Amino acid sequence: ASTWANVPQGPPAILGITEAFKADSFDKKINLGVGAYRDDRGKPYVLPSVRQAEEKVIASRLNKEYAGITGVPEFSKAAAVLAYGKDSSALDRLAITQSISGTGALRIGGAFLSRFFPGSKTIYIPTPSWANHGAIFKDAGLQVEKYAYYNKDTIGLDFEGMVADINKAPNGSMFLFHACAHNPTGVDPTPEQWRQIEAAVKAKGHFAFFDMAYQGFASGDIHKDAFAVRHFVEQGHNICLAQSFAKNMGLYGERIGAFSMVCADAAERKRVDSQIKILVRPLYSNPPIHGARIAAEILNTPALYDQWLVEVKEMADRIITMRALLKENLERLGSKHDWSHITSQIGMFAYTGLTPEQMDQLAKEHSVYATRDGRISVAGITSDNVGRLAEAIFKVKG
Ligand code: PMP
Repeated sequence: ASTWANVPQGPPAILGITEAFKADSFDKKINLGVGAYRDDRGKPYVLPSVRQAEEKVIASRLNKEYAGITGVPEFSKAAAVLAYGKDSSALDRLAITQSISGTGALRIGGAFLSRFFPGSKTIYIPTPSWANHGAIFKDAGLQVEKYAYYNKDTIGLDFEGMVADINKAPNGSMFLFHACAHNPTGVDPTPEQWRQIEAAVKAKGHFAFFDMAYQGFASGDIHKDAFAVRHFVEQGHNICLAQSFAKNMGLYGERIGAFSMVCADAAERKRVDSQIKILVRPLYSNPPIHGARIAAEILNTPALYDQWLVEVKEMADRIITMRALLKENLERLGSKHDWSHITSQIGMFAYTGLTPEQMDQLAKEHSVYATRDGRISVAGITSDNVGRLAEAIFKVKG
């Protein structure tokens, strides 16, 4: 028999939607499965600030030598300032490494916690969460448990359930929070709710791990989107953080992100930093340099940085506009359902509240493709297709 005769067939990944979409010959088909920004013509978008930064990087004809284990220092220093704020007390005691985008940051964090977290090696993630969270943390050697997050009756936050689960977990547990633009629901706590969540986490002595994959992309304001992260640090939590530049700089395939750990002091930072290097070295030795150079160029050049802020806001605003248009169109068609969640949710994704059967019907009868959990990528909606999308949803759901 073949060596791999007993390898079982795994289930299809999310990309199955793209395949079904490609196979559909209808010219007005709509793909709302992909988690990447599209412009109003439905095309992938490279930010002008990124183009300019890349041209500068290429023009400087740098060599292609390896970066250090923790990457390009000009990048990670600037990434830390972006996340924590330039006056943050965390900056002097922060262990930070460049990572293979947000996924790699989560994986390094998972590996660090698995090796060094002094308490129970169980991390609590929201129900639902980005599908990869559970897989990343399990593969990194942690146990994964769930906390309440989404209330399907209100299509909003189950705040009471969330706080109850924070209180129920054994003291000193690890909790993963989406810093902003929760994926897949688009449902975020309000600043006041974050304050209460912080108080509950502190009272229980829990450890907070933030995943910030959408800074700036949610509200259009990098500071507003970093509220939860900065609030926890201000309240004395030595959090850890996964950052991604996939969405907010559109650097998806460049795989550029950062993992950081807020330490008690500089001496602790030195020890943590040494162990992060020991973890990274056998994983991939050192990270790729090109995306880091582009991101560093933007973050460290005032004119490019200001331009980038405008461009992130344009992306966020287009998404916010599409949400409003979808809701308006549904109401205009005479839908009796309350669609206010479409506009109160935030970020790339909207949780429509449609059932798996209704999602199947959208695909089969209307050539509208998205995941069966009812999540649609708002980035795939355009001025041109929003009317047809609303009609399809109206026909399926009423
Ligand atoms: N966390 C969340 C919540 C995400 O939605 C994503 C992207 N889909 C990521 C992390 C990481 O993505 P990447 O590795 O491309 O940065």
